[in-house]
Amino acid sequence: MYSQDSIAGRRRGRPEPTPETLSGLACLICGTDYRNAPDPEVVVVSHRDGKQLLACQGTCARMASGSVNGLDETPLPLAERVRRHGDGADGS
Ligand SMILES: [Zn+2]
Repeated sequence: MYSQDSIAGRRRGRPEPTPETLSGLACLICGTDYRNAPDPEVVVVSHRDGKQLLACQGTCARMASGSVNGLDETPLPLAERVRRHGDGADGS
């Protein structure tokens, strides 16, 4: 008998993005919460479920997308991201 450790589903390394990250409210790499950050330079680095994933311009963006400027795409305004995050939450 051998264990099933090597079979599907085990992912190592990166943790799953948080709900805040998935809503573009936090950096995909360092986790900075943009709602609390003063006025960071934020760039789009990826997409997931039709939403933009964001990271800080520079090191974080490069780690996430390979480019310090991320994708050639404009992030949604923070207020809009916050609103969508609120709408999407299915908790009461
Ligand atoms: Zn960052």
